[in-house]
Formats: sequence, C-alpha cells, structure tokens
Amino acid sequence: MRMMNCEKCGKVFSSLSSRLCEECREEEEKMLKRAKEELYRNPGLGMMDLVQRLDIPLETLEKFVREGRLVLRSKERLALACEMCGREITGGKRCAACEAKVRRMARELYREAKTREGMYSLQTIKARREGSHE
Ligand SMILES: [Zn+2]
Ligand SMILES: [Zn+2]
Repeated sequence: MRMMNCEKCGKVFSSLSSRLCEECREEEEKMLKRAKEELYRNPGLGMMDLVQRLDIPLETLEKFVREGRLVLRSKERLALACEMCGREITGGKRCAACEAKVRRMARELYREAKTREGMYSLQTIKARREGSHE
C-alpha cells in the first residue's frame, strides 16, 4: 500500500494497484456499465456513437477497450442484418418493417386469444403462428 495522487482528480489516496481514487473508480464503473448496456441494446454502435449518446469521454472509452473491459463489434462488423428479411440494419435484430409486422402479428394473436378465450390453448396459437407465412 502506498500513497499516490489520483490520475483523474488529483486526490491523494492509498493504493495497491489502481491509479484512480475510490470515487473516480466508481464513476468509471458506472460509465462502463452504461456503455455495456447501450452496446447490448445496439451492438453495432461505434466508439463515437457511445461518446455522443452517453456523454462519456472518448479517452475513458478507449481505456475500457484497451483494457478489454469493453468490446466493440463495430470495427469488424458495421452492418447487421435483419433476422427476418436480411436487410441491412444499424441496430437491434429486425428492420423497422419486420419489427412492425411482428408487433402486428403479436397484437392479432393477443386479440384472438382474448375474444375466443378458452377455445384456443397456447399450443394452438403457437401452431397457427408457425403455420402462417404472411
Ligand atoms: Zn479521483
Ligand atoms: Zn426485415
């Protein structure tokens, strides 16, 4: 254990290995968590997207990536494909058109199940959905 100045805020603190004081480290953890959550929702995001969306300093993000704590896919794979029609999308799993279609289908199934409650088992609804190719 030795005393040193926090690399970020300059506060003197006792450290084993970290170059940041407790508060600054906590703050970084929070930023890392937010970045991870954002990437989870939009796996195609690049470094600059994260800077803009989350207001996290670029150098902090670079550090996370360098340390292997944050993995960006955007360099290797800029374009994602819609899982239903294969069209290029920037994030998520489906393009807007397919997303709308899926929502509509779900809504119809729900309505059907509601109005004919008891007539269809969940199994029947599933079989109908798999059988229809709209
Ligand atoms: Zn600090
Ligand atoms: Zn699509």
